[in-house]
Amino acid sequence: MTNRVGIFGYPLGHSMSPALQQAALDDCGLDALYEAWPTPPEKLEAAVNSLREVNCYGANVTVPHKVAVIGMLDRLDPQTEAIGAVNTIVVEGGEELIGYNTDIHGFLTSLSSQAGFDPAGKRVLLLGAGGAARAAGNALAQKGVRSMHIANRTVSRAEALAAELSGLGASADAIAIDSPELKERCEVADLIVNCTSIGMQGSSDEGRSPLPEGWIPGGCLVFDMVYNPEVTPLLAQAQKAGAETLGGLPMLVHQGAAAFEMWTGMSAPIDVMMEAARKAMAELTR
Ligand code: NAP
Repeated sequence: MTNRVGIFGYPLGHSMSPALQQAALDDCGLDALYEAWPTPPEKLEAAVNSLREVNCYGANVTVPHKVAVIGMLDRLDPQTEAIGAVNTIVVEGGEELIGYNTDIHGFLTSLSSQAGFDPAGKRVLLLGAGGAARAAGNALAQKGVRSMHIANRTVSRAEALAAELSGLGASADAIAIDSPELKERCEVADLIVNCTSIGMQGSSDEGRSPLPEGWIPGGCLVFDMVYNPEVTPLLAQAQKAGAETLGGLPMLVHQGAAAFEMWTGMSAPIDVMMEAARKAMAELTR
């Protein structure tokens, strides 16, 4: 019987996960179907419970359900508990639903494999304080960064994240994303990570950068988690400044690969997934 797996989100028009996951399932010769499951909040609990039916690997979870889904699962792995956001559900023993966050893996793997960047001892500026920023902040704290400045529109969220990361031994503080003092934080950063949705195609912030022109120093790495477009306005600014750049597509593939391996127990075909993601992106922007 065909195995089921899919993604919960609402709306789901922009998701590239079906393309890259189906390519991986097919490449591994698995009889499985990865589907888009657009699910409004009031229908999420019933939909999540339906994963307990036979022949289901689990699911991915995206906006706006990453936090709400936590209360619908049987347990979380400890790292996911600390982040407070789930992007992957694994069905164990046919009925137990376990929540994971594979964004940490996707973030760190793309940072090392695509950019050759080692965060140890580095000064980091994190833009955003939502689920993606929480994953990146936890990942960077684990890797022993020298300092982390967290800039967010809602400063209280940045303060809460900075306090949590300080509790893990990282030197972290918070600042408003529109504060003039942010310029100094930019100037000394070794790594700037955009974890906001600013710049994402199809959003109300399409075509915008989270930073003013001319603030990015030439010697740093700029990592934009936004993957559509591939060169965001922030990355275009970074290129102009002579900085290194890394887009969000490799992270998307690596977080998906980690989920695939947990569902299937097989090694994920990264190259196949990357190619499928690029193809899906090209179709999306055509
Ligand atoms: P989220 O939890 O909803 O957080 C959104 C963040 O963006 C918050 O910090 C929010 O600030 C900020 N923001 C949104 N609109 C803004 C605006 N107009 N001005 C200033 N700040 C704004 O979402 P998320 O899950 O963290 O995802 C954030 C982005 O990362 C999305 O674009 C998502 O697609 C991307 N992402 C990519 C990957 C990947 O694999 N490449 C993985 C995860 C996420 P407030 O706190 O003030 O609302």
